[in-house]
Amino acid sequence: MTTTLPTETAPLLDTMRRFWGYDEFRPLQREAMLAVMRDRDSVVVMPTGGGKSLCYQIPALCKPGLAVVISPLISLMKDQVDALEACGVAAACANSSQSVDEKRRVAERIRGGELKLLYLSPERLLSDKTLEFLQSVPVSFLAIDEAHCISEWGHDFRPEYRQLKVLRQRFPKIAIHCYTATATEKVRDDIARQLGFEDHELLVGSFDRPNLIYHVARRNDRLAQIVEVIARHKTESGIVYCIRRADVEEIAAQLNAAGYRALPYHAGLSDQQRKSNQEAFIQERVETIVATVAFGMGIDKSNVRYVVHAGLPKSLENYQQESGRAGRDGLEAECHLLYSAGDVVLWKRMLGELPPEARLAAEQSLVALDAFCTGHACRHRALVRYFGQLLEQTDCGACDFCLGDHEPIEEPLIVAQKILSCVVRLNERFGAGYTVKVLVGSRDKRILEQQHEQLSTYGLLMSDGAESVRDWIEQLVSQEFLTKTGEYSVLKLTDAGRKVLRGEVVPRLIKTAAVESSRSAPKKNRADVDWEGVDRGLFDALREVRRCRAEELGLPAYIVFGDATLRELARDRPTTLDRFGKVRGVGAKKCADFGEEFVRAIAEYAREHGLETDRDARPIPPARLREGTSKISRSSRAAFVHFAEGKSIAEVAKRMGRAESTAQGYLADYLKAESITDPTPWVPRETAERIEQTATETSGEGGMRAIFEKLQPSVTYNDIRIVLICRNNRGLGDSRPA
Ligand code: ADP
Ligand code: ZN
Repeated sequence: MTTTLPTETAPLLDTMRRFWGYDEFRPLQREAMLAVMRDRDSVVVMPTGGGKSLCYQIPALCKPGLAVVISPLISLMKDQVDALEACGVAAACANSSQSVDEKRRVAERIRGGELKLLYLSPERLLSDKTLEFLQSVPVSFLAIDEAHCISEWGHDFRPEYRQLKVLRQRFPKIAIHCYTATATEKVRDDIARQLGFEDHELLVGSFDRPNLIYHVARRNDRLAQIVEVIARHKTESGIVYCIRRADVEEIAAQLNAAGYRALPYHAGLSDQQRKSNQEAFIQERVETIVATVAFGMGIDKSNVRYVVHAGLPKSLENYQQESGRAGRDGLEAECHLLYSAGDVVLWKRMLGELPPEARLAAEQSLVALDAFCTGHACRHRALVRYFGQLLEQTDCGACDFCLGDHEPIEEPLIVAQKILSCVVRLNERFGAGYTVKVLVGSRDKRILEQQHEQLSTYGLLMSDGAESVRDWIEQLVSQEFLTKTGEYSVLKLTDAGRKVLRGEVVPRLIKTAAVESSRSAPKKNRADVDWEGVDRGLFDALREVRRCRAEELGLPAYIVFGDATLRELARDRPTTLDRFGKVRGVGAKKCADFGEEFVRAIAEYAREHGLETDRDARPIPPARLREGTSKISRSSRAAFVHFAEGKSIAEVAKRMGRAESTAQGYLADYLKAESITDPTPWVPRETAERIEQTATETSGEGGMRAIFEKLQPSVTYNDIRIVLICRNNRGLGDSRPA
C-alpha cells in the first residue's frame, strides 16, 4: 500500500471543483484517479452511474499530454465530448463520420498541445495511420471504456476490442486503464491478461445501486401495471423494455391512447426512425421510450427515473445493465420487473440455433433469473450476490420485499419451525415436493410406503394448502434457511435454519401471490429525501429552461445540467452568480454560460410564488432515512414509518414479520432518533405516570432495575425503557435507559 499525500489529491479535487462543480469523490474515484496519476495500469469496476468517466477525465487534465480514450460507440463518444466541452474541457473524437477537414482540425489541436482528451473507436486507434500519428505526440495514458468488451467471457464481446492487446507493444511506456460496470472475476482476469498487465491496480466497487428501488411482480394486467409507474413520473423520463417488437408497438400505442407521450424503438424500424425517436427521448420531447434490448447501449441520459421490464430480460447481467440505465445521476429511480412463466418459454424459443454450450449457458441464465423473480428475499441483496458480493444489511429499504409490498403471514416463526423440523424429521433426504406432501398430510403411496404419515410433522400445515407451503419452502431457501443440494435438490438446513429452530431468528414469510390481498399503496421511501425542500413547480420551470437551452445548443438536456443540480437549484434558489456557482454540478464554465439565465428564472419564479431565495439548505435527511450516520439498521428505519403513525409494538412486529422483542428495539431507536417525548402511544398513561414518578424518586439511582423492583409486576422493562427515553428527550435525563 502506498500512502496518499494530500499534495496528490489536491490538484484532482481542484480540477473537479473548477470544471465539474463537484466537491467530493464518489467511492473509489480517488483511488482510481491516483492510479492514473501514478502511471500504474488499472482495472476499475464500478456500477453504472458510479462515476467512471471522471476517473480518467480529471487526471487527463492534471497530467501533461493527451489522454486517449477508447470507446465502442460513436454516439457515446459524441455525448462524452459534448459533456466535456460544456464543462470547458478541450476534448474531441475522431471517427469515420467526420469530414477530412474536421479530422485535420483535430490533428492540429493535438499537435498544438491544446487537446486534453481524444476519443477513438478501437478500429480507428489500431489503424496504422492513427498509431503512427499517436506515437509522434505526447500521450499521457490510454483509457479503455466498456473494457468488458475485450473479454470473450463478457456478455458483450467485441472482436475489435480483442485487437487492443497490441497496445502494450505499441506503447510500452504508457499506462493503460480499463473501466467497466460488469465484470466477473473471469472477465477481470481476462482483461488484464489480454492487455499484458503484470502488476496492475484492481479496484472493484460495490455492485449495489442503493438509489434504485426494485419491484418484481407477476404480470397480470400489463398496461395497468406500466401506467401505474409512469403516472408517478408524468413529466420525467423512463424506459419500458419488451421482449418482442410486436409488444413494443402495442404498448407504445396503448400508452399514447392513454394520454402519455411514448415512442417505440426496435431493430425493425428504419435507422432514420430509430435515430429520431431516440433524439426525441434524449431531448425530452417525449417522456417514455418503449423498446427492445436494441435500445440503450450508448444512452448516457442520466435522469431516467424509471425502467419497466414488461417482460423478462434475458439474464441477470442483462437485467442489471438495462435496469441500471435508471438513476445514473444518483437520485432515486424505480425499476419494475413484470414477469410471467411464459416469458422463459418465449426466450428459449428466441434463443434459436445456438451451439450446445452457448445454449446451455443461456438456459442457465434464464433459470437464475427465474429464481430471482420468484425468490422472496431482498432484491438488492439477491442481485449483488449473483455478482459475487455480499450486502451487509439485511433490509435495504428499497425493494418490494423490504418495503413491505407483500403481506407477511401471521406467525412466520411457527410456520418456519414446522417446515424446518419436517425437513429434519425426513433426515434431510427429500426434496421440496415430497416435504410439502408430508406437511399437508398427503396419502401419496410413497409416503405411506415410507411410513412418513407416522411423523409428528405429518399434516401440520394441512389447512394452508400445498401451494402456500411450497412457496414458503422456496422463501426459506431464498433467505438461506434451507438449501437445495445434489441432483435431486434435497432440502437441508443451514446454520441460519438451525437458529430458526431454536427461535433465535425469525424469517420473513409472506402470503403467496394467489392469497395475497390487494396491494397496499407504495410506502415512503428515499424519494422523499431526494425531494426534501425542493420546490416542484420551480424544478419544472427550470427543466423547461434547460430544455430550451439544450435544444438551442443541439445538446442532450442532461448535459446542460443534471437533475441533481436542478433539484438543488430548486431547493436553495440562488439568485446571484456567486451562489449559483457553489451549487453541486455547476463548474466555472457552466456558471458563465448558463448562470444568468437560470438565476433570472429562479428570481422570477420565487417572486411570483412568494418563495424564499438564497437558502443555504443542503437538506439533512430525516434521521430515519439518513445513511451511515448512525448505527440504526435499515429494518429499524423501515419501522419508523409505522411508529410515526402510532402503531403498537405488536402491530409493527406483525407487519414486519419480526419478533416483538425485535420491534421493541426498533421503537427504542425510533424514540431516540426522532426525539419523541410522549410515551403514551406505547405505554398506558397511568403506567407511564407511575414510572415517571418513580424515576423522579430514585433520580437515576439503581437504573431501570430499581424502578422495576418498585413497580413489578404491573410494569415491564420495556415500558420503563420507553418512558425513560421520552423523559430523556425532554431533558430530564437523570435516569438513563439501558
Ligand atoms: P458511469 O460511467 O460510471 O456510468 P458517469 O461517469 O456517467 O458514470 O457518472 C454518472 C453521473 O455521476 C454523471 O452525471 C457524473 O457527472 C456524476 N458524478 C460523477 N462523479 C461525481 C462526483 N464525485 N460527485 C457528484 N457527481 C458525480
Ligand atoms: Zn431489499
